[in-house]
Amino acid sequence: MPLALRRVLGLVVSGEATNRAEIARRSGLARSTVGQQVDQLMSTGILEEVESKRSVRGRPPRVLTVSPQAGTVLVADIDTAASRIAIADLNRRVLATETVPVRIEAGPGAVLDTVAERLKTLLDRQRRDPGRVRQVVVGLPGPVDFEQGCAVQPTGMPGWDGYPVAEHLGRLFGTPVIVDNDVNLMALGEAAHERLDTPLLCIKISSGIGSGLVTADGGLYRGADGAAGDIGHIRAVGGGNTLCACGNVGCVGAVASHRAVLRGLGIPESTEDDPAFGARELARRITEGEPTALHAVRQAATEIGEVVAMLVHMFNPRTVVLAGPLSELRDDLVSAVRAAVYQRALPLATRKLTITASRLKGTSGLHGGIALATQDIFSPPGIAQLLAEASAGSL
Ligand SMILES: [Zn+2]
Repeated sequence: MPLALRRVLGLVVSGEATNRAEIARRSGLARSTVGQQVDQLMSTGILEEVESKRSVRGRPPRVLTVSPQAGTVLVADIDTAASRIAIADLNRRVLATETVPVRIEAGPGAVLDTVAERLKTLLDRQRRDPGRVRQVVVGLPGPVDFEQGCAVQPTGMPGWDGYPVAEHLGRLFGTPVIVDNDVNLMALGEAAHERLDTPLLCIKISSGIGSGLVTADGGLYRGADGAAGDIGHIRAVGGGNTLCACGNVGCVGAVASHRAVLRGLGIPESTEDDPAFGARELARRITEGEPTALHAVRQAATEIGEVVAMLVHMFNPRTVVLAGPLSELRDDLVSAVRAAVYQRALPLATRKLTITASRLKGTSGLHGGIALATQDIFSPPGIAQLLAEASAGSL
């Protein structure tokens, strides 16, 4: 398959170029080559030209986009108290999204069946053919064996250890399923959807603490076994003898996570009728300026900052994104993490570094799942398959 075809398709999928002239300018390819590739992609039904929705005077401009016929992707971002799901087209546009109130302790069978049923309902409502689902992506809040498509000894997820998540959903949808760690997806979502500079390090501060790393070329760094970024069990400077669920003492996840801050303040994480009670109550106390709550958040931020400083030395990221309920609390968390990092890290590593809170309000995992799915669909083997289906007339 010609490299030119991949370049053309890549620019349209990422939204970087929507017409022939733009594609030629961005790719450096000759206009005639771009024209040829676009014509081929349109005649096979992979790309189509539609009227832009942008309001301009006169005739609306025509833009290139991936045809709805080419397929749909499904994403499930599974978390402890609830899961978020989305369906998207191959232009990475979210078509529908929903929060499914199912607790992770219900076990993999129940959670996956509930999530799959809701996804099928969304497909139905959007009139998307279930037979054209190309890829399902699942994020799990624990260590994931990426090759096997399952969680490996996750804490607080009874029944999930080694459970064949990819196989289970693959059976229900008849498509390939990618299972990844939730923070990996969040990191990819921040880089792809927010177009933040890479290398990018995303830190999720929730029931534990985890991180994901997007490399300079936009791919995920998973390490040899998929365990890269599992930073919650690094020893915190002020960790003391606090016992962690892993059996060690003083882990940063045990002293500085959202769960740990709530516990320290005596706030229950959830109540019978409000699964997000803890997050809401802490936010209220912070807004009201309650000193013990402010102190607890700053203390946690300092511990996290120490770990982030170490990671900044190791990976020299251009962007650090803090995500999870603690990061949504005013600027207290971000500024305290910044202070700790700038105090610790050397100038070369921090000169162009941006440390920021996620602006995606908990949807970065969904955007990351969509990005990962389309990366796979528009990889060289993925495109070859699309073209083969198109020439067989099944697109
Ligand atoms: Zn631990």
